[in-house]
Amino acid sequence: SEEKSLNFIEEIIEKDLKEGKHTTIATRFPPEPNGYLHIGHAKSIALNFGLALKYGGKTNLRFDDTNPVTEETEYVESIKGDVKWLGFNWAEELYASDYFDQLYHFAVKLIQKGLAYVDDSTSEEIAAQKGTPTQPGTNSKFRNRSIDENLQLFSDMKAGKYKDGEKVLRGKIDMAHLNMLMRDPVLYRIKHAHHHRTGDAWCIYPMYDFAHGQSDAIEQITHSICTLEFVPHRELYNWFIEKLEIYPSRQYEFARLNMTYTMMSKRKLLQLVNDKHVSGWDDPRMPTLSGVRRRGYTPEAIRDFCERIGVAKRDNLIDISLLEFCVRDHLNKIADRRMVVFDPLKVIITNYEEGKTEELPSENNPEAPERGVRSMPFGRELWIEQEDFMEVPPKKYFRLAPGQMVRLKSAYIIKCEEVVKDATGKVAELRCTYVPESKSGSDVSGIHVKGVIHWVNAKTALPVEVRLYDRLFTTEDMGAIEDDFTNHLNTNSLEVKTVFAEPSLTTAQVGEHFQFLRMGYFCLDPDSAATKLIFNRAVTLKDMWAK
Ligand code: ATP
Ligand code: MG
Ligand code: MG
Repeated sequence: SEEKSLNFIEEIIEKDLKEGKHTTIATRFPPEPNGYLHIGHAKSIALNFGLALKYGGKTNLRFDDTNPVTEETEYVESIKGDVKWLGFNWAEELYASDYFDQLYHFAVKLIQKGLAYVDDSTSEEIAAQKGTPTQPGTNSKFRNRSIDENLQLFSDMKAGKYKDGEKVLRGKIDMAHLNMLMRDPVLYRIKHAHHHRTGDAWCIYPMYDFAHGQSDAIEQITHSICTLEFVPHRELYNWFIEKLEIYPSRQYEFARLNMTYTMMSKRKLLQLVNDKHVSGWDDPRMPTLSGVRRRGYTPEAIRDFCERIGVAKRDNLIDISLLEFCVRDHLNKIADRRMVVFDPLKVIITNYEEGKTEELPSENNPEAPERGVRSMPFGRELWIEQEDFMEVPPKKYFRLAPGQMVRLKSAYIIKCEEVVKDATGKVAELRCTYVPESKSGSDVSGIHVKGVIHWVNAKTALPVEVRLYDRLFTTEDMGAIEDDFTNHLNTNSLEVKTVFAEPSLTTAQVGEHFQFLRMGYFCLDPDSAATKLIFNRAVTLKDMWAK
């Protein structure tokens, strides 16, 4: 049937709705503003927003900004831009830091219930107290402080009486718990650091576990979807909800997106930027959304990709060719065709009048006839690709060769009459004749040729720069490497060339997509100037890596 089978999260939601557990759903996308979003985040965005759209619910954009040291407003802005670019609208823009007061009161409530205590142990001592997965931990000597003493000390922590690391607030759960995260987890630590939103109002900051679930509860998120590494956190997530008697949000975990030849960690991507292995977060080789946007990927292609990979319960490695396939598939539908010669070989049409030019119409997109035509100037001197001529062609070579004919796309059939060589014996130009009756659209020549090649008129050709990208890394499974990941960089990931474009490309705009016939899909780079156009290749026409 047409209907797609449900993924496991949709099954849970449909059951919850059917049983009346919820009448509507609320999800959230919770980025930490400590870097730019990447394709992995796109998966999470498409999932969270997609579910709310499908079930008539809402999705909040919540910045998980509880760590003042790594977070910046620049990242907040880029994240908002990227989510919008992907095509999603959030119900509310929220910040975990807006809940600092509320979270503080939650902590006080736990202390009052005898479920949290202030610990003077150092972080090393706390780590040692934790024990091992097979050995129970040991209680801190501060574990049995009275409720009143804990309330006073916690209030003093907040008031700035202590230095970083002098004290922490810990949950009082069970130091022998089978789940290590339940062994008296740290809830608050002291950090005398400036926060991008709350400034210097706070010197104690909640840990991720103490902030995340409670933020979900405050927003009445029904389905809190995260990646598999949070499975062990779920027990603690539920413990806080139970002990604080707050809205029972529920956490569900899916497999994070891993992709071949792709580094998917903000921290490591930041290192690539800082160490100048790439030109910035939006370098077109980066897997960031700003990078792939600049490269010419479309939000439609990325959403299609997220849809195709589905929602897995087990970690896996997705072939990057699938993403490239989706990009190609979408660009094929929307990109206007243009002719650009990469390795020029001069062709002189000896029977074409000197000084004459003709404007020949050429269709913009055979997949989208409504895109109409543009005109290509034709003249006596043309550029064709060097690889479209062979002096001694093999059988079934249907392009140009001495005495052989080929069709110039949207123009005429030409025949190679003479090969002119330079002093070194290299082919310098071809002297050809054209068949005047063979004009595309009104061909009455009766000649049938098999090969069609692209070309540009030499006089009006526009020299432009193209940037041809290859994979940034040479290793298939970047998650499995143990040495320094920068050892796995592809040193040939960028090739820059000057090529000859048809003049209609002068008016290209950033954000427009083109297919350069036979060369791939391209878009104008924002670094372009009127005097120097730069085009990024999003993807080749065929999978060059296919075996
Ligand atoms: P990174 O590991 O790259 O730093 P993160 O998980 O720390 O990513 P967050 O800002 O916390 O980054 O992520 C926001 C949301 O995006 C989280 O719900 C997270 O689980 C999800 N997410 C991050 N990376 C991926 C991925 N590769 N696949 C799917 N979801 C992801
Ligand atoms: Mg995170
Ligand atoms: Mg992370």
